[in-house]
Amino acid sequence: MNDLLRLNDVLRHRNTPRLGGLAALIAVAWILPYQLGGYAIHVVNIALVFALLAIGMGLAMGIAGQINLAQVAFFGVSAYATAILTTHSGWGFWPAAALAMVASALVGLLVGIPALRMQSHYLGIVTLGLALGFINWTTNAEVAGGAEGISAIPVPPMFGIDLSSEYLYYYLEVIVFALALVFALFVVRTGLGRRLMAMRDDPLAAGAVGAEIPLLRMTAFMLSSVFGGVAGVLYVGLIRYIAPETFNIANMFLLLAMVVIGGRQSLVGCVIGAVGLTLIREQLVDYPTYAQLGFGLVVVLMVVFAPTGLAGVPVRVKAAVDRRRGRTVDRASLQPFQPYAPTGLGDANEKAGDAVPMLEIDQVSKHFRGLKALDEVSLTVRPGEIRGIVGPNGSGKTTLFNVVSGFYRATRGGVRLNGRGVTGVRPYRLSALGVARTFQNLRLFGDLTVKDNILVALDRTRTYAIWRYVMWPVGIWRQERRLNRQADDLLARFGLTEFAQAAPGSLPYGIQRRIEIARAMAGSPRLLLLDEPAAGLNGEEVRQLAEIVRSIRDSGVTVVLIEHNMGLVMSLCERVTVLAGGKVISEGTPDEVAADHAVIEAYLGDSAMADMPLPDPSEVSS
Ligand code: ADP
Ligand code: MG
Repeated sequence: MNDLLRLNDVLRHRNTPRLGGLAALIAVAWILPYQLGGYAIHVVNIALVFALLAIGMGLAMGIAGQINLAQVAFFGVSAYATAILTTHSGWGFWPAAALAMVASALVGLLVGIPALRMQSHYLGIVTLGLALGFINWTTNAEVAGGAEGISAIPVPPMFGIDLSSEYLYYYLEVIVFALALVFALFVVRTGLGRRLMAMRDDPLAAGAVGAEIPLLRMTAFMLSSVFGGVAGVLYVGLIRYIAPETFNIANMFLLLAMVVIGGRQSLVGCVIGAVGLTLIREQLVDYPTYAQLGFGLVVVLMVVFAPTGLAGVPVRVKAAVDRRRGRTVDRASLQPFQPYAPTGLGDANEKAGDAVPMLEIDQVSKHFRGLKALDEVSLTVRPGEIRGIVGPNGSGKTTLFNVVSGFYRATRGGVRLNGRGVTGVRPYRLSALGVARTFQNLRLFGDLTVKDNILVALDRTRTYAIWRYVMWPVGIWRQERRLNRQADDLLARFGLTEFAQAAPGSLPYGIQRRIEIARAMAGSPRLLLLDEPAAGLNGEEVRQLAEIVRSIRDSGVTVVLIEHNMGLVMSLCERVTVLAGGKVISEGTPDEVAADHAVIEAYLGDSAMADMPLPDPSEVSS
């Protein structure tokens, strides 16, 4: 994964094979035109335009997971803008091109606006609508030349180089393409790309670790449109004539086919898909209907049998071979947890009874249609406390966490964090305010490595700071190195170094649980919400968990713990709150609660828990 650091190594250690490969690629790109006839170089030039479009699509669809059917429109906006400005308004080619790219980016932002409010699958329809609307406009608007299009677009001037020669134009395209690809790879392998991928894998969990989901979705569309804009300008300069049919739905689906077949999660895969399909389409130019059907069929087969496309095949083969050979993770390589340095903060605050509570839940109700999942729940957690929340299944414990961490908006009532009202605040804001959580059913980012999971949470960069990608990439680079060091430290603390590059899904349950806690701690929270962290753990793992939670508290973090494992609750928590049917039925020290008749009744009433008596606190050593 970490190609940035690897690139660093390449440069430092003069890693000849890699540099050699790069040199060979440059040499091939350089001499290619010498080997090709006039028509062939034209096809290559077109392929490069499609490759740029495909990278943009790959960023939105593969990396960010947002369905984008508007790429032809982004492409068309900049192509038409350049054409109209140069022919109608007498602008020079490059000033027109610059304005055209800005126009494309603005349209990308515009498409992204519904993303602030809408679920992603509806966005697919919005983007398709934009594409159709654009096609309509090009065929009907007078300024766009109607069905005839616009011709006599000037040759882009370039220091006396005659770009009307397709051979020379090729070099311009290759350089722009290479820069665009490097930029896209830089985005994917640094903070922004990681956050986009986290959003793709699990938007809820991404929000909980501070990713600004709606803004990130907009960013994905804008990125996509920028690549569309560059492609549009290059296309106009190459063909110097445009007509609506270039931007029609058939080409949109061809582009989609390129991205799906090549492999949407890999930008290089997108490029390979684009170049490959352009060449194949040229071969099949006499049989357009069969070609369309063929592409459609291949796309369907790909989606079913190789959803990660051609680029994903090697990874899948390797995973399959590993599984065959029974190569699994060695549970024993999980290293012991290294406790945090105690700050004494927890103890100090505990004694100061009048300190501002870390968490105040005030008469919170949450109704789902008729169901009162929470019914006027109030509870107060002091700073430095480990609070237990227990109750039969369905009593509203997870719902309470969802309200506190901003996933649900309370029907009534309020939540205060450290004295500050945070009712209805979005998850990413709460994360910035110091709330972190884990999930009852693990929500790790499945297609990211363990280390990347941690990095997403460590990186607190706000989305607006993406200007640095254009203006100050060195700053991004430096930050990556710092984050990488922090991630390594955190992985070492949680004994996870061995699994840094593993896919979370390939690891045993107990290790995944620990990764989730490490990820939550990566955001340096003040309040940590753990939702059944011991579920599925064996006895030894539960003992380790107790040690980890205690150390986290000693480092000054307030912990609220939902747990069915009564032994753990009894040994860890100073106070326990019992929920049943969405109401608080008891609260007190573990012993008080265990002796409370209401609690015993609530548990005995729940058949799932009936055979699970409250154990003696001494069962779990402290
Ligand atoms: P617990 O975590 O204590 O087992 P939950 O908080 O998950 O319980 O659920 C409490 C009740 O709220 C359950 O009856 C559950 O079905 C209901 N519930 C939780 N989330 C939703 C939702 N998003 N929509 C409808 N009902 C929900
Ligand atoms: Mg639950």
